[in-house]
Amino acid sequence: MNDFLLSIVIPVFNEKNNILPLLDVLLPFLENYSHEVLFVNDGSRDGTAEIITEIAQKNHNIKLVSFNRNFGHQIALMAGYSFAKGDAVISMDADLQDPPSAIPQMIEKWQQGAKIVYAKRKKRDVDSFFKKKTAEVFYRFMNMLSDIKIPENVGDFRLLDRSAVKYLTSLPEHAPFLRGLVAWGGYSEDFVYFDREERHAGKTHYSISKMVNFALDGITSFSVKPLRLATYMGFTAGSFGFLGIIYAVIGKFFLPIPWVTGWTGIFVGIMFIGGVQLITIGIIGEYISKIYLEVLQRPHYLLKEKINID
Ligand code: UDP
Ligand code: MG
Repeated sequence: MNDFLLSIVIPVFNEKNNILPLLDVLLPFLENYSHEVLFVNDGSRDGTAEIITEIAQKNHNIKLVSFNRNFGHQIALMAGYSFAKGDAVISMDADLQDPPSAIPQMIEKWQQGAKIVYAKRKKRDVDSFFKKKTAEVFYRFMNMLSDIKIPENVGDFRLLDRSAVKYLTSLPEHAPFLRGLVAWGGYSEDFVYFDREERHAGKTHYSISKMVNFALDGITSFSVKPLRLATYMGFTAGSFGFLGIIYAVIGKFFLPIPWVTGWTGIFVGIMFIGGVQLITIGIIGEYISKIYLEVLQRPHYLLKEKINID
C-alpha cells in the first residue's frame, strides 16, 4: 500500500528555535511512509542551517538546500518543489502552525484520487481580527477579479500530486503566487480540516507591508481587470470634465452666474483628476514592473549548498 515516496517541503527563514520541536512532532507521523523532509533555507542568519545540517548528517532522510540570501517564501517553496522527489509533496510552515497530525488524512485523500489536498483552517482564533478580515476581503476581491477560484482559509499547507508539482515547476514566473497558480492548474482537489495553532517560537515574517505586496502580486498575476478599471476611471473623470465644459459654455452665454468666485470647484476638480491619474499610473506601473522582472531573466534564486541531495 505505502510504496510511494512522500516529500515534506519546509521553507525556513530564521527559525532556529522551531526546527527541533517541529521534527519531534513531524517524524513520528512519517514512520509509515518512505519519506524525505526537505528544508529550504531562505537565507537564514540565525544558525538555522547549522542545526539542520547537524541532523541531516545523522538522518539522511533530512535534506537541505540553502539560498545565498533571502529570496522570499514563495520562491523558497518553488525551489522546494523542484528538488522534492516524492510522488506526493506536502508543503508546510516550520513554526508548527500547520499540525503534522493532518498528514495521514491528507495522504488518504490523495490515495482516493485527489491531486491537490488543501488543509483548511477550521478556526483561526490565533490570527488577529485584522489578519482574518483582510484575508477575507482579499480573497473575495481576488475571486471577483480573476477567473480562478482560490479556496478561502487555505494557506500553503497542502499536498500536491507529482503531476501538479511537475506543472508548477515548469512555470517560468519570477514572482509566483502559488496559491493562485495551484488553483489555476485545475487539478481535482479535496480538503482536510485543522485548527491553526499559535506560532511555536519567533515572530511572523509577514508584516502588513509584506501582506499588501503579496496581495498586489496575487492580483496582478491573475487579472488584468485593474487595467480596465483604470480605463473606466479615466472615462468617468473625463465625462465629468466634459459635462463641466458644456455647463460652463452654456453658463457663460445664457445663465446669469457670477463666474469669478468658486475656487473650491476648481480645487476639487484638480484633486479628483490628479487622484485618478495617479491611481491609473500606479496600476499601469504594477504591470510594467511585472514585465520588467520577467524580461530581466535573472535566476530565481542562488544556491549556497545542498545536503543529502544529489
Ligand atoms: N519564510 C521563508 N522566507 C521568508 C519568509 C518566511 O522561507 O522570506 C518561511 C518561514 O520560515 C515559515 C513560512 O515561510 O516557515 C511561513 O512564514 P510565517 O510563519 O512567518 O508566515 P505566517 O504563518 O505568519 O503567515
Ligand atoms: Mg507561520
